[in-house]
This record gives sequence, structure tokens and C-alpha cells, in this order.
Amino acid sequence: MKTTVPVSLIFFIITTGCIGPGGFFGDDEPEIIPFEFDLTLDDLWNDIPLNQTSASDIINMTYEFDKSPRVTNLTEIGYSINNQPLLLVEFGDYDPAVPTVYFVAAQHGNEPASVDSAYLLARHFARASPEEIDPILEKINLAVFVMVNPDGRDNGTRGNSNGTDLNRDHMKLLEPEGKVMHEAFHKVHPSVTVDMHEFGGVGTIIFQVAAPQNPATHQDVLAASYVLESDVIEAINEEWGFGSVTNYPPTTSSQDSSIHRNHFAVHGSVSLLFESAVSEEYSERVRLQSWAALAVIDEVADDPDYYLGARQSSDEEGQEGNDIVHAYLIECSDPATTETLRILMDHGFDVGYKPDEESVTSIHYETFLPRSVFPNGTVVIPMDQIGWRVLGELMEYTSTKDQHYTNSPKERGQDAWRALEPVNYEIDNNVCNID
Ligand SMILES: [Zn+2]
Ligand SMILES: [Zn+2]
Repeated sequence: MKTTVPVSLIFFIITTGCIGPGGFFGDDEPEIIPFEFDLTLDDLWNDIPLNQTSASDIINMTYEFDKSPRVTNLTEIGYSINNQPLLLVEFGDYDPAVPTVYFVAAQHGNEPASVDSAYLLARHFARASPEEIDPILEKINLAVFVMVNPDGRDNGTRGNSNGTDLNRDHMKLLEPEGKVMHEAFHKVHPSVTVDMHEFGGVGTIIFQVAAPQNPATHQDVLAASYVLESDVIEAINEEWGFGSVTNYPPTTSSQDSSIHRNHFAVHGSVSLLFESAVSEEYSERVRLQSWAALAVIDEVADDPDYYLGARQSSDEEGQEGNDIVHAYLIECSDPATTETLRILMDHGFDVGYKPDEESVTSIHYETFLPRSVFPNGTVVIPMDQIGWRVLGELMEYTSTKDQHYTNSPKERGQDAWRALEPVNYEIDNNVCNID
């Protein structure tokens, strides 16, 4: 959290103020120098680097944004495996009636241009003139996760220091960087999320945008993702003439919710992926990513209610409950239960237990065979939580019935029953003695 003056110090100033002349602060009270908003959009384009900036320089320069009164929060939201801080920069007053636009830069360390773009974007919002920035921050909040894989950037590798592809970890959440991205997403609660990448394509000049492809995505979220996607492609085309849709064929791997754009769309955010060809000059790649990022911001600021509404449709659907499946029921004696509960809780869901012997009309998730007797202490995963679509996804993922996940643990034999009527439960995130 950004803190200007500690509360205890304010108290100290007030009490010593009564002492009169000769108090501790005397005549040499520090003069408060107003922050100078000294940049324009031209500075963003002029300061694009010729070569990639090192991870440590990006981190040090990002800390500087703390001086800007426009930065709502500058948070070390977590640490990489090599203990580098993962920095989240937030702008705006977080009025819930305003959508938040959220950028995540370079899950893949060997696709580095978006980190320089994200840094320059955050710098622009921290330092550019009020005439340029204030009208935008009246319409949106902005959050920038400047560099999610600093270790991969240092090593020039796709994965993190464990060699894990972070963009396949969003269901399992085994890596610290994956968990942190999840925390950041929940903290920011974005209406619009952009996951910034680059890709091979030697000799090609290209910029592509992809919308989410998981069939479990809420229709309003999907529709708004397509609208935003077309808008970004148009903006790239106007300047360069080569913006296009990345049409991943609808296979199990392109629909997989372990992938950022799919995962967070199922969580309820309008979602895009950027790809620009790494064969281009570095500065041109940074310029492309920055141009596309600004196009997203412009489009959402033009029609904020539309994007806010898409996220709300997905969230409110969960709050009203799912009238098809009321809860999942699983047993502590099932060996797969511990890991399932760990995964659900790491994704932000509450779990509980059945406090009575009351019968529940239920069917097995896979065989559809009925069962109604569940003992006191059976695990209950209530569906009436925000984001029940992703909850359903996670239950499928941890089961053997996981047809559309390429990265799911296939050997798992999760037994689960779907309650077809409301079930009594008490929330207890330590059920089955999980820590
Ligand atoms: Zn990538
Ligand atoms: Zn999740």
C-alpha cells in the first residue's frame, strides 16, 4: 500500500505543534515540493529503447512511480523464484462503477518487448500532464503488472527458473509467479485483461490479437472480447496495415484454461492476448505493443459501461447461484481431495463441510449414478460463489473427466457428486485438515 505519512507521525506533529516555537520541527519544516507531471505522449514514443532493458533496471525504474500522486498503489505483490520483486502498479480511484483495464507483461521471458511497453505505459500514466491523463482516469482505472517473469527475462527463457511455462500454470497454480498473477487479478478485479506476448514467425511483420476460446466463457465476456479485438486490429491496421486475428484452431490446447486469456475470461474478465513477431527490430516491437495497449485503453474509455457490464454479467450470474448444480460433494477419504481443495482455495473459492446427515439428491459427476446419503463432514463446495464457471472448470480439471485440458493431471481419480438441490454447509477452509 502507498503510504505518505504514517498515522503515528501525524499524531506526533499535532501534539508537538502545541508546544509552540522551539518544537522539534522548529523553523526548518521540510518544504513540500509538488510532483511535476513533466511528460507527454511524445516522450513515450521517443524513449522506446533500441535494446531490451534488464530486469533489474525495470524493477528500479518502476519503484520511482511511487512518487507520483496518481499511483494509487505500487505493490510488491510477490516474488519470483530468484526472489525478484513482482511489481503491480495501479492508477485511478477504484470507483466500482468504472472498469479496470489490466495489462500483464511477458509471462514468457524470451518474449521481452512487452515489458518495455508496460513500463513506458505505466510511466506515461504516472508522469504525463493532467490534460492527457485525467480525462482517461475519469473513465477507467488502470493496472499494470510490469514484468511477471523477471527470472525468465534474465535467462532468456520461455519458462521461469523452474523451467515451467507460466502460461500453462493457471489451473494448477504450482509456481510462485502463477499464484501471484492470480492474486493480482483478484486484487485488481479487471473488466478487461490483456496478456502480452511475442512469437516466432521469422521474416514476418505481424501483430496478432486473440480472444478467449474456452467454451465455458460467459457470452457477454466473449462478445466484448471480440469487439475489443476488432478495435485493436483496426488501430494496428491504420498505422501499419498488418494487424490480424490469431486464429488458433479450436483444439483442446487452444481452449485450455491453463492459458491466461482463457483462464481469466472464465473468471469473468474480457480478455485478449497480444502477439508480435520477434523478428522485427526490438524498438518496433515495443512500439507495436504500446500502440495496441493504448488502443485498448482508448476503446474502453470510449465505452466504459459496456466493458464493466460484461464483467458484471459474469459475476452476478455467480451471485445468483447456479440452479443446475448447487454444490459439489467430495469425501476426505478420497486421495485426490487434498490437492483439489488446495487448487480451489488458491483460486479464491471457499470450501466447507456438511454439518448434518440430511439427505441430498445428487448424481456422480461422471457416471451420473444417484446418491443421496452423505455423512456429516463430507466436503461441500458451494456453487453460489462469484465465478462459478471457473469453479465448474476446476472440478472437471481435477477429475478424470477432463477432455478439454491438455495440462491436467490425467492420473487423478477424483470422485465428486453434484447436488441437484440446496445443501446445508458450513464454510471451513481447513476441512479435511488442509492448511
Ligand atoms: Zn508467449
Ligand atoms: Zn483461477
